[in-house]
Amino acid sequence: MQIFIYLEQFFLNQPVTMNFSGEITAWYISNKRELPWRETADPYKIWVSEIILQQTRVVQGLGYYERFIKAFPDVHSLARATTDQVMRLWQGLGYYSRAVYLHEAAQHIMKELGGEIPDSYRELIRIRGIGEYTAAAIASIAFQEPVPLIDGNVFRVIARLFNLPYEIGTAKAKKVTGEIAERILDPKRPGLHNQAMMEFGALHCVIKNPDCNNCILRNECLSFLNNNVKNRPVKKKRVKKAQRYFNYLVVRSGNSILMRKRNGKDIWKYLYDFPVIETPALEDPAGIIASEEWKYHFKDTGPPVQEVTPVFKHVLSHQIIHIRFFILQPEHFSGFHSKDYKWVNLSGRNKPAVPKPIHNFLSSYAFKH
Ligand code: SF4
Repeated sequence: MQIFIYLEQFFLNQPVTMNFSGEITAWYISNKRELPWRETADPYKIWVSEIILQQTRVVQGLGYYERFIKAFPDVHSLARATTDQVMRLWQGLGYYSRAVYLHEAAQHIMKELGGEIPDSYRELIRIRGIGEYTAAAIASIAFQEPVPLIDGNVFRVIARLFNLPYEIGTAKAKKVTGEIAERILDPKRPGLHNQAMMEFGALHCVIKNPDCNNCILRNECLSFLNNNVKNRPVKKKRVKKAQRYFNYLVVRSGNSILMRKRNGKDIWKYLYDFPVIETPALEDPAGIIASEEWKYHFKDTGPPVQEVTPVFKHVLSHQIIHIRFFILQPEHFSGFHSKDYKWVNLSGRNKPAVPKPIHNFLSSYAFKH
């Protein structure tokens, strides 16, 4: 530990003489992937691409980016869209709050900033929904402002190059990585430098088994020279995920199904789901049918249950949701007691955006039975 701290102090107190930026940008020019957001200096398109790519792999994000830009080619069209239109294009990408904030930020830019996306980090970061990372991406790539950008890939590259002993997500790791990122940034080509750092992490200095023996930086990389690559960056201690138990009630009438738009601070905001009875632990189907909540919704015992599906597990970043569907006999339905729900026609063109487990259920299960 001593030696690592010493090395870090060495780098922070001395001028950086190694030309990391030159080496990494040269690597980038020969190895980068051709991607649509790399062909543009349009701040809106760079912004959309960065939001889509946060926590999403490029292969998965590419189609979403193309569809999104086709539907909303500029900040104006995005601001005018309805939440449902935005969520439909985001469906399946996860992290739905990103879409909500992107949409709200576009509306803010139209309303308060005359439709112009600000051209400086300082102004960008003031917009709700644009965080440090996104502001740095827009400012450096679209406007060539010399601000470093630190995403997960860049964090890993720096932690390995400088053999940093700080756990991912801690204030110390953020501070030291930020200082180093600033020092190695090429102020004359910040956009190119930042994209090169991200791509180097994504393609070469990868999470598992990086190809150190064929790395352009193997003679400078402190974790490689200390035979310590497998310990860098220092992983976060595992946090136990919350377990939740959703019992969905599939209430149908003809082609329509009872759904509500989710709201509040919980998961899947603005997506549609079915009436749900959430329990603190896994309950027997008989226990759910006999519950007060069931009686409340159906004013009594409710329609007969046609089928109860097995329990499916859906894993999110902080929660594991155990989901079961109670498919009710449609012809026996006489009323459902709750103002939040409405009949949604699933055969129409404007199908609502739904969370992945509901989508899977609807496409593989519900109406075939
Ligand atoms: S030597 Fe290995 S750990 Fe160091 S930068 Fe290269 S690929 Fe990453």
